[in-house]
Amino acid sequence: MMEQQTFWFLDDDRQQSGRRVPGAAGVFAEVEALEELKEIALQCNRCHLRQGCKGVVFGEGDPKAKVMLVGEGPGAVEDEMGRPFVGPAGQLLDRILEAAGFRREEVYIANAVKCRPPGNRMPEPAEIAACFPYLEAQIRIIQPAILVCLGAAAAKALLHPQARITEIRGQWQDRGGIKVMPTYHPAALLRDPGKKRPVWQDFKAIRAEFERFSGT
Ligand code: SF4
Repeated sequence: MMEQQTFWFLDDDRQQSGRRVPGAAGVFAEVEALEELKEIALQCNRCHLRQGCKGVVFGEGDPKAKVMLVGEGPGAVEDEMGRPFVGPAGQLLDRILEAAGFRREEVYIANAVKCRPPGNRMPEPAEIAACFPYLEAQIRIIQPAILVCLGAAAAKALLHPQARITEIRGQWQDRGGIKVMPTYHPAALLRDPGKKRPVWQDFKAIRAEFERFSGT
């Protein structure tokens, strides 16, 4: 019951099976441009996170990116600068991307929630649910070939409310025809360097899939 209340954006059939439906929310179905969606998000007050942060961190990158990375939520530095993944975890992500042959400008980076949770805690299910229409609309507009879930919150938002990152990490998933790679959040690597090797394996797989898709 809690899951159905919280994840109101799932249709009835999929609520019972627990699977996501691309476009199920339809809240911003009429919005066709990221800039328009961003303007709406900047005014958002759909959940209480907005009261505790400086601003909405919408996301950034190539609007036609073939690889879209989704993290959990903005941290203190991101909240201050209004940009995703620019703190210590973001700097590590930049190095991972570069090592995998991606320029930051050619991917798109967003978060499961656009406002900073207090004390950098994990976003709660109700907060992920409230913010999900923005993420859904970003994916619909960008149309990436590959989604990368950076951490549990993104995996719960995009794959399954009960997804456990430790169980599905490194295994390709499907989300309405988009290939999804769940991996650890860069902040987890800063806490536990032992996670660097599996994340590097995941990004090598992401690179290989990107090249296969691009025909390069
Ligand atoms: S976290 Fe998302 S839903 Fe909540 S206020 Fe910020 S933009 Fe709106």
